[in-house]
Amino acid sequence: MNAQTTTRKRANCPTCGLDFRLTKSGTMFRHVGMTPAGFSTGETCPGAGKAPVVTYRIEFGLLGASRPVPPLVVTTDDINVLQRAVVAHARPHMEPVLAELGRPEYADCMFQTNPDRTKGQFLWLDVMTGEGARFLPARINTAP
Ligand SMILES: [Zn+2]
Repeated sequence: MNAQTTTRKRANCPTCGLDFRLTKSGTMFRHVGMTPAGFSTGETCPGAGKAPVVTYRIEFGLLGASRPVPPLVVTTDDINVLQRAVVAHARPHMEPVLAELGRPEYADCMFQTNPDRTKGQFLWLDVMTGEGARFLPARINTAP
């Protein structure tokens, strides 16, 4: 493998499902569409320019003195779907620990990722008081 192929990211197109290279902004590179039978459509795939389908493997860190949330794998082309799936998965595991820590209200939280989507954390905000808290860091791995 040369340096060029190792530095270019690839991902699966949300429309045709095939593996292509990504643009600098992280969307699918222009490519020709494919029928389900595997024949070329002769036209640009509608998935070109869209966000790729990515499999996220998420490992959760410490909450208090334990790691209550088991790892999660989510495959999606939509960051909002990922964020909602993480909260739905983590909430039942976090709730008893947050109650023990005296902050049961933190269970009503959202999951945030950094722009690279390599790290995440939970964010709790109280809109009434402007109080907020970030907790339970997570490591996100998108390598195949
Ligand atoms: Zn495609």
